[in-house]
Amino acid sequence: MRLAAVRGRIQSACREAGRDPGEITLVAVTKRFPASDVRALHDLGVTDIGENTDQEAAAKAARCAGLDPPVTWHFVGRLQTNKCVSVVTYADVVHSVDRVRLARALGSRARRADRKVTCFVQVSLDEDPDRGGAPLAEVPAVAEAVAAEEGLVLGGVMAVAPLGVPAAEAFERLPRAAEAVRGVAPRALAISAGMSHDLEEAIAVGATHLRVGTALLGGRPAFVR
Ligand SMILES: *Cc1c(COP(=O)(O)O)cnc(C)c1O
Repeated sequence: MRLAAVRGRIQSACREAGRDPGEITLVAVTKRFPASDVRALHDLGVTDIGENTDQEAAAKAARCAGLDPPVTWHFVGRLQTNKCVSVVTYADVVHSVDRVRLARALGSRARRADRKVTCFVQVSLDEDPDRGGAPLAEVPAVAEAVAAEEGLVLGGVMAVAPLGVPAAEAFERLPRAAEAVRGVAPRALAISAGMSHDLEEAIAVGATHLRVGTALLGGRPAFVR
């Protein structure tokens, strides 16, 4: 576990950007690592955990159900509408809402499960539909769709920096997307951006949620152990 190093990077980046580290939520992305690593992180005080597939997330959430304080589960991966019925049972925050149909499916499932799920609108920074995320022009419509659902809370915006472009450059579009979401719900202030290799650049553009895997846990095993 390399938590101290990651916390140190967050501290310095915040100092550099004139920001308070208290504004930053570190989401430890534990995909392909076992539930025992979630427990180890929890022992160290990391209670925000991210996963990118329903199958893994559901199993780990079940195995970590008794933890106190409870884990806040963040779903950060591509999400198909048929998985919503499962995801709403454990996810507290879904970072990857990128289309109106998905917002509606999540909303109806959350309402039926009597859950409130916070949703971030994922914006595409390179407009490549294959990589997930809504084009900037569609962000307001997706945000409206989330806000209209009784079972959902519009929390903010999320982005993954595209490959092959310097992160600082890719993140230049993020403030506009964040503004579009705030235009729908003024309190939707979260900005989920920044991974192991670009958390400094994300902090510089105002990220509130960092999704960090490799820098905390090392290289991911190919299969779940
Ligand atoms: C895996 C993953 C991360 C973490 O990436 P690292 O480079 O290991 O820090 C962050 N966000 C998403 C959407 C992911 O799938």
